[in-house]
Amino acid sequence: MSNTTIQIDNKIYNYLLSVSLKEHKALKKLREVTSSMPGSRMQIAPDQGQFMAMIVKMIGAKKLLEIGTYTGYSSMVCAMAMKSGQIITLDNDPIATEVAKTFWKEGEVDHLIDLRLGEALDSLNQLIEEKHSASFDFIFIDADKANYKNYYELCLELLNPNGIIIFDNVLWSGAVADMDDKSKNTIALRDLNEMLFNDQRIDLSMIPVGDGLTIVRKKQS
Ligand code: CA
Repeated sequence: MSNTTIQIDNKIYNYLLSVSLKEHKALKKLREVTSSMPGSRMQIAPDQGQFMAMIVKMIGAKKLLEIGTYTGYSSMVCAMAMKSGQIITLDNDPIATEVAKTFWKEGEVDHLIDLRLGEALDSLNQLIEEKHSASFDFIFIDADKANYKNYYELCLELLNPNGIIIFDNVLWSGAVADMDDKSKNTIALRDLNEMLFNDQRIDLSMIPVGDGLTIVRKKQS
């Protein structure tokens, strides 16, 4: 036995799914449809979705913000966990989000989800102008990595003081740990991870679910 995180190979992963994943049929279908689409690697893993849904339930989140809708899996799984409330989700891709809208209807959660198309930085500033500051219980950041730091500062403003922010892809398939990897997105994520680690305003936990998640919460005074 070791006191480090277990290495998950396919056999263990499939076992994990077989004894834990309870995926709504509309989510499963969405995953299948998305798997043949451009950018399908952007879709979150189903166990990650279930983990996020569990957090939504645990903290009783009623107002969610997502940066990076893609085909709508994460917003749908969170909406299903929430039942009542509001999700505002931001993306600039009209094609992928058409798929999202179709499946939100199929999953009967479309009335909970407000999709805003455009540049996310503009939409975040718009939300601040609309007086959404300090109101979101749960914020999921899963979009262009170079802007994660910019999204973060605006999201801290929008976050309910008791709320959480979750960053996706913080381990970037492990590339962040390879200091020889100097690609733009790897550097952006490595910088983000160091910045969050040194940010005295927050508590954080980085967990190896999916491609790595960092959960951030404002320190309580
Ligand atoms: Ca992602």
